[in-house]
Amino acid sequence: MTDDLLARHRAVLPSWMPLYYAEPIELVSGEGRRVTDAQGRTYLDFFGGVLTNMIGYDIAEIREAVQQQLASGIVHTSTLYLIRQQVELAEKIARLSGIPDARVFFTNSGSEANEAALLMATNYRRSHQILAVRNSYHGRTYATMGVTGNRGWSPSALNPLQVAWLHSGERLRGLLARLPEGDRIDAAVEDLREVLATQTSGDVACLIAEPIQGVGGFVHPPDGLFAGWKKVLDEHSILLVSDEVQTGWGRTGEHFWGYQAHGVTPDLLTFAKGIGNGFALAGVVGRADVLESVPAISFSTFGGNPVSAAAGNAVLDYLLDHDLQANAARVGAILGDGLRAAVAGLDQVAEVRGKGLMLAVEFVRPGTGEPDPALTGKVFEACRQGGLLVGKGGLHGNVLRMGPPLTLTEGEAREGLAILVEAIRVEVV
Ligand code: PMP
Repeated sequence: MTDDLLARHRAVLPSWMPLYYAEPIELVSGEGRRVTDAQGRTYLDFFGGVLTNMIGYDIAEIREAVQQQLASGIVHTSTLYLIRQQVELAEKIARLSGIPDARVFFTNSGSEANEAALLMATNYRRSHQILAVRNSYHGRTYATMGVTGNRGWSPSALNPLQVAWLHSGERLRGLLARLPEGDRIDAAVEDLREVLATQTSGDVACLIAEPIQGVGGFVHPPDGLFAGWKKVLDEHSILLVSDEVQTGWGRTGEHFWGYQAHGVTPDLLTFAKGIGNGFALAGVVGRADVLESVPAISFSTFGGNPVSAAAGNAVLDYLLDHDLQANAARVGAILGDGLRAAVAGLDQVAEVRGKGLMLAVEFVRPGTGEPDPALTGKVFEACRQGGLLVGKGGLHGNVLRMGPPLTLTEGEAREGLAILVEAIRVEVV
């Protein structure tokens, strides 16, 4: 029973590990884009465990690849031995990364991937100064909390790095929204120049940024911003690290990586979540000279282990064979356009934003335009009652987030859309 499990959870796990929903859910099975809880209720899943279930539940190709690896008996080897699955996966990711002559380093989580990227950048540049972006989320390790641009998400202020903060996310959006579109990148680039000149010695290792801020509420900087930034960074030999933990693998529909919307190639790119479809798999792909700059002793016991790597290979093959990026664009447009049309004229909805299958709805109080996390919470609960799982996020907790598996069908998109629109209609009074 979930009730009993909930009490046991509360007794033994830290209270700062939040559970979704007034009545938390225990998922016991999944198939396709649907999950079933311990009470036998089935939900359409538009969040995929925070954009982690990228292909769907119980996908035969992935299950068989993992089972085959399990059956071999080799479920772990240290990276001191050759791992065929890992080499194959690295070859694919290096090829797909768009970074010439790339190298890949595997980790278990997005936090570790970003931690490794910061290690590489600071080693390569022999500097501990980092540029990061307000309202960003990069992880739960010390260094990644240090570059996470919201104290609420990075409670430890202790940080071995010297971080200077760029305006972006919510604030940049607010500032930039007042400017004509053509001037926005110029303003953001000016912000970078000013931060470099006033908060750093100029001798900076890297700028780490998400092409679209994920936990921050799917906040889009203007397309092309990274290219504007990169021009300035190159003048100072500062590396660009693109955190693609949420934006990678074609989720946005228009591009395989989020950085491609910005028309520039990063020096390092970090990935996690979807590539394992639930198995712990993450890493850094980037310039050979940067990856090669760290000391020889740096490795990860479980990073790219044979089981996770087998899953990763099956996920990537499935993704490419079925052109899921195209599906994300097509089905995402149905969902996004349908949602925009349904909420048009509602003062409580500030914005429906997103690309492909990375979509968000932002709720505000009519009149004042203040963030409305209470209404967001009600719509979120009503979606669950209607049989739809979505996520929450944003600096003020007033953004509903959707990142369903990229295999979502048109029928499922329309079904979920109807539940969401009804939840908004009922809760917006
Ligand atoms: N970067 C981004 C953009 C993320 O969204 C997350 C997780 N929400 C992370 C890094 C950290 O990944 P993990 O939880 O796997 O450590």
